[in-house]
Amino acid sequence: MELRPAARTVAVDVLVNGAQSRSQLAKKMGLSPATLTRIVRPLLDTGVLVESGAIRTPGRGRSSLPLDVVADDYRFIGVKLTTDSIYAVVTDLRAQILAVETVAEPSLEVPEVVGAVAGVVARLSARAGRPVDAVGVTVGGRVDNGEVVADSPYLHWRDVPFRTLLAREVPVPLYLANDVIGLTMAQQWFGYGRTHAHFALLTVGAGIGYGLVIDHQVVPTRASPVSHLPVDPYGPVCARGHRGCLTAYVTSGAMTAHVAQAHGRRLTYDQVLRLARDGDPAALRVVREAAHALGRTVAAITAFTGVERIIVSGEGVGLADVAPGGLRDGRLEHAAGDSAAIEPIIDRMNFTEWARGAAVAAIQSQFPARRRPIA
Ligand SMILES: [Zn+2]
Repeated sequence: MELRPAARTVAVDVLVNGAQSRSQLAKKMGLSPATLTRIVRPLLDTGVLVESGAIRTPGRGRSSLPLDVVADDYRFIGVKLTTDSIYAVVTDLRAQILAVETVAEPSLEVPEVVGAVAGVVARLSARAGRPVDAVGVTVGGRVDNGEVVADSPYLHWRDVPFRTLLAREVPVPLYLANDVIGLTMAQQWFGYGRTHAHFALLTVGAGIGYGLVIDHQVVPTRASPVSHLPVDPYGPVCARGHRGCLTAYVTSGAMTAHVAQAHGRRLTYDQVLRLARDGDPAALRVVREAAHALGRTVAAITAFTGVERIIVSGEGVGLADVAPGGLRDGRLEHAAGDSAAIEPIIDRMNFTEWARGAAVAAIQSQFPARRRPIA
């Protein structure tokens, strides 16, 4: 019984870090070769792990054969819902994307979205080339117990039992998660977080997302706890009336509203960034202040969590390219000691990457599931 968590640890290590020999794994985990062999046996019996690269070193026997997963034996579908579109991918067990599909949201009415997602899943299943093991679906906003979209300001849903409704149409195991949690899981196993036991992910765009991994575990958070982080007591006001909170500075809606007011016309977020790049004073001020607020938030996350890696992402992250100095100043103005050295990783990640995150939410829920019954 007590071997089970250890077996999972070994299997996940092989999945995430690639084929390894028993002796490498035993050394890494601080176990004797005999103990490791005992842990690995049920994983081999059930097909979770296989002995790969069947070249035997003369005289060294089986123990030198590297253990691996057969990633291509698995198929997962990931679906990310936004206000406008449904982004979906098919992946293998290592979250390699094999096929993609994007469709427009028919509307935000729950039955129509259920039908549209079921349709995408059916079409991608037909293209998957193998039976689909599980489907992960992620949405922005609060998801309770992997079952209910409790509050999604983007879909305008409250208390929608979305997983149950969708499960009636989708005939494989189905997992529902918050979209930032899915993206965090993808970074944890297959991205920038792979090499770090602790890291944070911050996303900016229409809203603000926050994911935290401590000791290889995703820390459960209610929807985006840093959204209204106080940044500056003299700053602009968000829709909830907070003066100088993070939302008031960096969300695309807040930024475009401020620049639009200065110009007396409607603007898109991309136009705001372009104006700033071209030196427009109003746009440049708003983008610099947003980058500065983002930098202060990165510093605050470092201060409170001690993580040594912070990934900044989301469709609004272009502001960091336009005003890198603002981000750096905000990050460093209260830095002390080593934390000053921690530079965030900036990577936009498109919505296909978010859909991959939904697939990884399904992979993390299922793996290591046995591939065949014990003989
Ligand atoms: Zn606020």
